[in-house]
Amino acid sequence: MSGFDLSSEQRALQERARALAAGPIARRAAEVDRTEEYPWDNVELLKDAKLLGMTIPPRYGGQGRSWLDAVLAIEALSGACAVTGRIAVETNMGAISAVMAYGSEDQKKMAADMVLSGDKPAICITEPDAGSDAGSMTTRADRKGNRYVINGRKHWITGGGVSRLHLIFAKVYDDKGDFEGIGGFLVVRDETRGLRITRREPTMGLRGIPEAVIDCEDIDVPPSALVVPPRGLKKGFADLMTAYNSQRVGAATVALGIAEGAYRLALDWSEERLQFGRPINEFQGLQWKLADMSIKLSAARALVYNAARSGEAGFPDMLMAAQAKIFTSESAIQVVNDALQFFGARGYSRELPLERMARDVRMFTIGGGTAEVLRNVVAGAILKKKLPQTRDGWKP
Ligand SMILES: Cc1cc2nc3c(=O)[nH]c(=O)nc-3n(C[C@H](O)[C@H](O)[C@H](O)COP(=O)(O)OP(=O)(O)OC[C@H]3O[C@@H](n4cnc5c(N)ncnc54)[C@H](O)[C@@H]3O)c2cc1C
Repeated sequence: MSGFDLSSEQRALQERARALAAGPIARRAAEVDRTEEYPWDNVELLKDAKLLGMTIPPRYGGQGRSWLDAVLAIEALSGACAVTGRIAVETNMGAISAVMAYGSEDQKKMAADMVLSGDKPAICITEPDAGSDAGSMTTRADRKGNRYVINGRKHWITGGGVSRLHLIFAKVYDDKGDFEGIGGFLVVRDETRGLRITRREPTMGLRGIPEAVIDCEDIDVPPSALVVPPRGLKKGFADLMTAYNSQRVGAATVALGIAEGAYRLALDWSEERLQFGRPINEFQGLQWKLADMSIKLSAARALVYNAARSGEAGFPDMLMAAQAKIFTSESAIQVVNDALQFFGARGYSRELPLERMARDVRMFTIGGGTAEVLRNVVAGAILKKKLPQTRDGWKP
């Protein structure tokens, strides 16, 4: 599916991931959706295939693979099962990559060990009253002598209840009560009192991964739990969010993979299904639809791969990651919707994967920065302005 300049090693990786996706992962996808249970068996398959934690540097037990390598694997997996694709995102990008870039030696070792043994870290930023405007979060970490005490509520936290490692963002106050900046704390569920999973959201799609409310009730941690990027606490939130650009590329990749999976199904069916005495792909209305779908997928793939490549020396470029996520998430919804239409009534049945794909793909214009907010990111970058409605912009 690509005319991209991939190395032979990358093609081999892609083939490996595709074979896994077409076999056991595809067979389980409908059941994962129906039972809403986290697919621990797929986690084991990813672990055995060395697709978990592949971006972690070798000195911490990983393979030091590139973002594009991870993208190739995630794309292949997501065509069969978006939940498994997301697990591959969150064990290679996002919280784990923030820790690997900015954490202390001990934090890196702990996070790498946990991910390589199958834990999908949770990143806890969003709150009931602080969504797009994440900087207005009210969860706070107060310095009390030799400890920090964290209180607040996070919601829509992916993996809440299955993840052990949590990167919890909070406003940090020193022992005089002065604000120091927003920091990320590494907290391990079951080893830390006060981290409570209090609700699971009834989601439209991606049902095999829980989205949860997490209450922080006097979580008591040592200062060594704080991930402090090189620019310190005042500007550290921006650094940690730079790491999040990798997750945005990952999210775009899952949307791309779902849309490619749906497109392939529609293409095959368009040859198989006969109406008016001929395959339905002999009708020009459907031919043009297939043409438009293929154009959207090619453009999306180019944006995603280029955004991944932009991060070779660090993290993917903010502008390219935002452009890739906006275009891919919106195009993928259209492609999946068009693919479903090819199947007529069958597309609307739960016996085919199209309706699941339509529910799953709908998420990607929302989670990890909405398409609207990412347009602010793009506008700010091309205008070279700090826009008032962005995280670093002006506030009344
Ligand atoms: C499946 C899923 C998984 C998620 N996983 C996580 C997770 O693991 N960790 C985590 O911390 N969060 C997670 N989130 C939360 C997600 O990041 C937020 O939903 C997202 O940032 C938007 O916040 P909100 O839902 O509060 O919407 P709001 O911020 O309330 O936005 C409502 C609407 O207003 C628009 N809007 C807001 N501000 C602007 C503006 N300045 N300009 C134009 N339009 C604007 C938005 O685009 C949106 O359409 C997840 C969400 C979903 C759906």
